[in-house]
Amino acid sequence: MKKLIAALITCTLTAAMLTGCGSASDDTGASSGQDVNAEITQADDTEKESEADKTSAGGENTKSDSDTSASDSENTAADDEKGTAPSELKTVKEGVLTMATNAAFPPYEYYESNEIVGIDADIAKAVADKLGLELKIEDMEFNSIIIAVTQGKADMGLAGMTVTEERLESVDFSDSYATGIQAVIVAEDSDIAKIDDLSGKKIGVQLATTGDIYAKEDFGEENVEAYNKGADAVMALKQGKVDAVIIDNQPAIAFVKSTEGLKILETEYAVEDYAAAIAKGNSALVEAVNGALTELKEDGTIQEIVDKYIVSE
Ligand code: GLN
Repeated sequence: MKKLIAALITCTLTAAMLTGCGSASDDTGASSGQDVNAEITQADDTEKESEADKTSAGGENTKSDSDTSASDSENTAADDEKGTAPSELKTVKEGVLTMATNAAFPPYEYYESNEIVGIDADIAKAVADKLGLELKIEDMEFNSIIIAVTQGKADMGLAGMTVTEERLESVDFSDSYATGIQAVIVAEDSDIAKIDDLSGKKIGVQLATTGDIYAKEDFGEENVEAYNKGADAVMALKQGKVDAVIIDNQPAIAFVKSTEGLKILETEYAVEDYAAAIAKGNSALVEAVNGALTELKEDGTIQEIVDKYIVSE
C-alpha cells in the first residue's frame, strides 16, 4: 500500500519555483515548447488582455500594473535565454499559464506555509516551463474550478480532477496524467467492511466531486453529506456525524495518516482518470499541454514528481 510522505524538504525549492525565481531550471526542454508554439497562430492579445484585467479585479491575485510589468521584464530575460515566444500561445494572461485549483487535496495540491505545492503544482510548473510560460496558481473552491476555466479566468483546472462525461459537456480535457481511485474511509471499529455496507449509512463527501456525485446516485441524496473540503468530511467522520467518507485514495491516505482511529477499506469504489480541464475549443492549449505531458511522461519527470510526494511502502 502506498503511503504519503509530505516532502517538507521540497518546500523551499517548490516555493522558489512557484514564485518564478527558479530560472536555473528554465532551460530544460525548451525546444519542444518552441515546436508546439510554432504551430499556434497569433493570439488576439488585445481582447484577452482586457478580459483578463476585468476578471482578475477583486481577486486575491490582482496585480498592479507595476507588478505585472516587473514580472514581464523578468520573463523577457528568461525567454531570451530560452529563445521561446510564449505570447504565441493564447492564454488568459499573456506569457502566463493560469492554473485553477483547490489546494486542500494532498498530495496533489496543498499548502506548505504560504505556498501551494503538490503533484499538480509541480506538473503544472513543468508544463509551463515546456511552453515558455510563467505559472500562476489560483486557489478556489473545487466547485469553482470549471467555472473559472469556462469564464476565461484560468487556462486550466488542475486539481486531481476526474474526467467525467458531465464535465466534458462544459470543458475539454488534456490527456490523463494520473489514475485516481475513490476510496472509503471508516472508523477503525466500523461494521462497514465493503461498499454494499454503505447502504442506509450517512456518507460524507467533498462537494461536487465524483465521490459526491456517485454516492448520491448509489446511496441516495438524503444519505450524503457534502462538505466544502475533504478534510471537513473526515473531521465529521471522526466526530461521528457521518459513518464513512468517500474520497480520492491519495487524500484519503493523507487524512487517515493525520487523524487517529480511521482506516481505508480495501475495496475500491471507483477508478478514474485525472486530467487538466481546458476551455472548450482551446485546442491549441490542449495540444500544447498534451505535447508537454507526453514529453514529461517519456523523460520520467512525471514519475519523479509522483515519487517525490508519494512514497511506496
Ligand atoms: N477526483 C475528484 C473529482 O474530480 C476529486 C477532486 C478534488 O477534490 N480535487 O471530482
